[in-house]
Amino acid sequence: MENEIYKLPELPYAYNALAPHISEEQLTVHHQKHHQAYVNGANALITALALARQNNTTHDNKAVAKELSFQLSGHILHSLFWKNLRPNAAGGKNEPVGKIAELINEQFKNYDRFRQEFSQLAATVEGSGWAALAFCPKTKNLLLLQIEKHNANLIPEYPLLLVLDVFEHAYYLDYKNERTKFIATFWNIVNWQEVNRRLQLA
Ligand code: MN
Repeated sequence: MENEIYKLPELPYAYNALAPHISEEQLTVHHQKHHQAYVNGANALITALALARQNNTTHDNKAVAKELSFQLSGHILHSLFWKNLRPNAAGGKNEPVGKIAELINEQFKNYDRFRQEFSQLAATVEGSGWAALAFCPKTKNLLLLQIEKHNANLIPEYPLLLVLDVFEHAYYLDYKNERTKFIATFWNIVNWQEVNRRLQLA
């Protein structure tokens, strides 16, 4: 295999742009070390698979499928996550706008209730994982999901609008073990324009 298939995307802002909510050091390590590791992991598996097929050697299909799902979903979720964030150094008001605001108000009663439910879901992910907001194109329902590690509990074909990484590596340098502090600050830097863009695509 000559070309690597997956690449680490550049962040849509500077490493220090999300401070004080996410520090430059935390964001740099998360992007350059952790996200890069999933990119490398996915590429290595795909290369190994191609080689095994070429050389007609056997491999553990089940283990490879599971590992590939972990690495590749890790890459994709992080790519979504960076775009879901935006700088807000001043900590100004950052509430949903446009269509997503309408849907949240219709289905969750109001933004406070939505934020409460999403935050609680994020806080109760066991071990490593994500909280996510998904959208059912058929019923127009918004759905809150927990993703364990990177690769469980997804509903196929329901696009994700907003994701929050609650792996410890996402917040430990800034907040140590206090995940709920990280979740609380996350709401200051949600990029609602991007959520609306994804909703429109759905
Ligand atoms: Mn992460």
